[in-house]
Amino acid sequence: MYRKSINNAFMGIILATMIVGCGPKKDDGSKTGPAIDIANMDTTVRPGDDFYQYANGTWMKNNPIPGDNSRWGAFETLMEENYKQLQSIMDEASTSKDAKPGTVKQKIGDFFACGMDTVKIEKDGIKAIQTELDKIAAIQNVVDVQKHIAYMQSSGISTLYYFYPGQDEKNSNAIIANFYQGGLGLPDRDYYLSDDERSKDIRTKYVIHIGKMFELAGETADNAAKMAAQVMQMETQLAKASSTRLELRDPIKNYNKMNLDGLKKMVQKYDWDNYFKTLGLTKTDEINVCQPKFMKEMANMTNQFPVDLWKTYFKWHTMHTAAAYLSDNFVKENFNFYATTLRGVKEMKPRWKRVLSETSDCLGEAVGQLYVEKYFPAEAKKRMTELVGNLKIALKESILNLKWMSEVTKKEAVAKLEKINVKVGYPDKWIDYTSLTIAKNSYFENVISASRFGFAREMAKIGKPVDRTEWGMTPQTINAYYSPNMNEIVFPAGILQPPFFFMNADDAVNYGAIGAIIGHEMTHGFDDQGRQYDKDGNLRDWWTKEDAVNFGNQTKVLVDQYNAFPILDSLHVDGELTLGENIADIGGVTVSLAALHKSLNGKEGDKIDGFTPVQRFFLSYAQVWRGNIRAEELMSRLKEDVHSPAVARVNGIVYNIPEFYKAFDIKETDKRFKKEADRAVIW
Ligand SMILES: [Zn+2]
Repeated sequence: MYRKSINNAFMGIILATMIVGCGPKKDDGSKTGPAIDIANMDTTVRPGDDFYQYANGTWMKNNPIPGDNSRWGAFETLMEENYKQLQSIMDEASTSKDAKPGTVKQKIGDFFACGMDTVKIEKDGIKAIQTELDKIAAIQNVVDVQKHIAYMQSSGISTLYYFYPGQDEKNSNAIIANFYQGGLGLPDRDYYLSDDERSKDIRTKYVIHIGKMFELAGETADNAAKMAAQVMQMETQLAKASSTRLELRDPIKNYNKMNLDGLKKMVQKYDWDNYFKTLGLTKTDEINVCQPKFMKEMANMTNQFPVDLWKTYFKWHTMHTAAAYLSDNFVKENFNFYATTLRGVKEMKPRWKRVLSETSDCLGEAVGQLYVEKYFPAEAKKRMTELVGNLKIALKESILNLKWMSEVTKKEAVAKLEKINVKVGYPDKWIDYTSLTIAKNSYFENVISASRFGFAREMAKIGKPVDRTEWGMTPQTINAYYSPNMNEIVFPAGILQPPFFFMNADDAVNYGAIGAIIGHEMTHGFDDQGRQYDKDGNLRDWWTKEDAVNFGNQTKVLVDQYNAFPILDSLHVDGELTLGENIADIGGVTVSLAALHKSLNGKEGDKIDGFTPVQRFFLSYAQVWRGNIRAEELMSRLKEDVHSPAVARVNGIVYNIPEFYKAFDIKETDKRFKKEADRAVIW
């Protein structure tokens, strides 16, 4: 939970997450199946009309979304493999002879076993969170209210705002305190404020959901309905003071550093001394208030609303955080709203998968350590390091060849590129879980213990030097990221599997898949957000005025293209919200294609299955994004996700790339043909 909330709060920091995944192991590229299975294509469609469909049509037709998923593609099918691998780790941990008390294996084994003990969980019911509810019941005044907020934060329970340590945006060697907006039970402020039918409907159902949760906790239906309406009123007020997703993408707007006196002056009627004392913090004189307007309103509200309403609000958020670890009635009610209403998911995942994911989240690097020992081949790291090196060379050349950028800015850009640090597979130094106690007693208590452990570990960083060996994702994660503050790209072991990474396939396939992903992450250092940070990870403008204007003009083409990209008939992609990801996608493909050409030494290369290397490059890129998605999930993501939908990540990109036209003989009469003047060229 802490891990999840911190990831949420880190949204502006780790801005380069990709949602990516792989196919089953048999697609290994050499052993039992081809790296590109042409049976997955739909060759009745012309590549110039709909390349996404052409590359993936038959796969999508033959792979409907299982009832317990909101989407189904390369990522999810690899996730299924991951479940099996993690399951075998859990089994080994819980039966291992070396699982002595206090060892990582004991902790993993007991955490998992506790989550699977449904007899105990059903018997406990709401009592599992009785300690938390008693604490809330004891609140008497506004001082207690503010203290309880600190308590919830330190326990990983969702509350009004986030507090976390992070690198100072303008001095990346220092770790300072950050305040970040929060407090909402719906995924975004827009759900509270938009007038469209879907948002209105979700609001109605959300209030009903809160009411049902209160009823499950023993309130009468009348009381529960009243309490739900009060929560909605408070959250709506918080939503009004919250920044939009677009505003959150602006690092300058979200950088407001001050000392403790500054905080006291800016956010008044809030007992900050007491707050920091509750958190056990003494050195807190460097503070970034990410969203001042929100923090001021939050503090006002703690004084404005009566204490009883805060108790109601805290009770809701405590049940909300705990729901998945409680008895079946809570689990189901929580699922009905958050998975079915918001995402369109029909069935719950089997319990063992849910508990696995939780164990993997709460004991991330403990599980990760066992995962890489068993499933990550050392050769993969070597091959990956070579690929990254080739991509760096290709991106350097493409920067030096840019027509729209001056020599001065190019010099800074190349210096930044050369300084990008690369992490592959797993950390050199693992998190030490010694001080975390996991008992066999209560699933919820174990989750809270893990959250407190994580929070304490984070708090200890304030005022200390930055630990550059740390990872922001666990090794078992099927994803990758770029961190602008660290100026580094990170590829967990989880993503180094087919169809992203093939140990033995031809270069074209690897450059189209993992190569484009490496390029994507590198390009994040130079997208509309990333370009505002320098080689040392500091928020500093190193661009000439003219180059910044040119960059804006080049990227504007992409904004307009995506704004016009239709989704579900009448909706569109948000071209501004997704700009950073779209720049990274187009940059990733362009640079990786250049790297492929270098590996072919200027030759065309041999055909495989009738396709040239360049054709296979594009097919491989497209197959990474194959997938089906439920309408509800798609609509939610259009509001919340900085990434474009999969179809747009393919069709929104390839028709901008000149070589794609040549490779697939795209004609002016083809549906998606773009005149050269209309194409986006950035990196
Ligand atoms: Zn990204």
